[in-house]
Amino acid sequence: MKLFLDRNKTLLPRVDKIFLLTRILVFSSISWFVFFGSLPLTDRTIFYYILGTYGVHIILFFLAVNEKFDIKLAYLSAIVYDIILIPLLIIYTGQMDSSFYLLFYMTVSVSAYVLSFWFSFFVTLLITLGYLGAIAASFSMGNLFDVSMRVGLIWVYYFTIMYASDYMRRSERRLLKLFNTLNMRTSELEKSQAHLELIYENTRILASILETDGVVQEVMRIMGNILQYKAYAVILKDKQNNYYYRASHFNGQSNFNLKAIDVDELELIRKVTEMKEPITVKNIFKRYDYIPLNKKSRSVIIVPMITHGHINGVLTAESEKIDRFKERDIQMLSVVARSAALALENAELHKKTEELTIIDELTETYNYRYFIHKLQEEKRRAMRYKLPLSLIMVDIDWFKKLNDTYGHEIGNFVLKKLSGIIKQCIRDVDIFARYGGEEFVIILPQTPQKEATIIGERIREQVEKKVFEPDKKTKLKITVSVGVSSFPENGKSQEELVSVADQALYRAKGEGRNLVCVI
Ligand code: GH3
Ligand code: MG
Ligand code: MG
Repeated sequence: MKLFLDRNKTLLPRVDKIFLLTRILVFSSISWFVFFGSLPLTDRTIFYYILGTYGVHIILFFLAVNEKFDIKLAYLSAIVYDIILIPLLIIYTGQMDSSFYLLFYMTVSVSAYVLSFWFSFFVTLLITLGYLGAIAASFSMGNLFDVSMRVGLIWVYYFTIMYASDYMRRSERRLLKLFNTLNMRTSELEKSQAHLELIYENTRILASILETDGVVQEVMRIMGNILQYKAYAVILKDKQNNYYYRASHFNGQSNFNLKAIDVDELELIRKVTEMKEPITVKNIFKRYDYIPLNKKSRSVIIVPMITHGHINGVLTAESEKIDRFKERDIQMLSVVARSAALALENAELHKKTEELTIIDELTETYNYRYFIHKLQEEKRRAMRYKLPLSLIMVDIDWFKKLNDTYGHEIGNFVLKKLSGIIKQCIRDVDIFARYGGEEFVIILPQTPQKEATIIGERIREQVEKKVFEPDKKTKLKITVSVGVSSFPENGKSQEELVSVADQALYRAKGEGRNLVCVI
């Protein structure tokens, strides 16, 4: 059975200091009574003992307050002393007439406050018996009312203190519980705050990536490493509203190959893009509108990537657990999706600007600047791997005359059409550029002179065959002269290659035009 109430983790006041103070007051009042009181004392010795024990007690409490003595023992000894000494005081100071029974109130309050219910009840019972014993000799029927009042008030006092302290304790417990919950919530909040900050920090990197591939890779990294998803994907939408997996991850492997999305699995994704709102599905099992990356997946989250009201795709994540994705996941993935959408748009814009700086607007071929840059690069590669490299230069014959006869607009039309014809005669790896005016160049990697001459001949032939129709009334034909130079036979530097191709072209012009020449 528990003797003391647990007062270790309490918000309520510790009564030890108050108790120490009351003991000192009692000690002083008894001393006054003993040494200066007018009452004739029958036996002073007993008072010296009482004072001595109170003195010892004050010291004990003083030590307990300063944590050098067990406070529980101090309380217990105080209670025991009081039960014995107060009746003695009463006996020696007039029994019924003595006011020292008031000291019992101090004992009752301490025991009601620090002891468990039954022990404090027992102490109060002992006090009652002690008091009755102490006044027994002077008791008469005339005193009955007085005695009952005194004893009754002791019990009323006891129950009041006991219930009040019990009520305080219960309120305290509730308060502590609330504090605990508050603490837990705060630490949860702190954790989620830290997580969100981590996500923000990581998504900030996205803004500095200028290629779509890099953005997709970074988004995949964030979804895997920071959001800790096990199966997830980046789905993009093209201008024709087709959806495709740009990257996906499941079974511990990432896949960066493009994969078109089946119409069957489109429904849920389409819904997200139409509503422009994220969706979570608690259990995807046997649903027809979504085919998961992982067959064991149960719950799914899909968040749209939106910038300036435009959707460029969605981010999806799956979990094998039912109802895995909560409001917080929507929040976090939306942060990533917003930054990803912006970064993808940036990358797209960057690509367009890049293209603008290297593409000739009229003919949609590369410009001179890009040609020079690529020629240097290809020539270095050819040198390093000892591969052949050729250069073809094409110039329209009598173009000035064509301009003068039909006008500049029609001249432009011819230039555009001619670039189309040349594109059809070369490979994807060849670099086709407008050298200036009505002159074009083609870099042919890994192509020896013989093959380049054949391609030059094909171009000449195709142009010669073509009938240009800029409008319904006009039909015209042109020819081109072609010069070819090759690495390594015509020179080691790109300047030499260009100059030799130019010389070959000049030669073709000299030998009557509509010709392919080498030096
Ligand atoms: P050749 O057979 O000797 O090459 O005779 P050509 O008249 O073609 O002579 P050249 O190569 O010097 O002609 C350049 C002409 O190309 C001058 C200019 O009128 C025309 N030209 C240059 N750039 C453009 C252009 O962007 N648009 C149009 N319409 N004409 C251009
Ligand atoms: Mg020219
Ligand atoms: Mg010309």
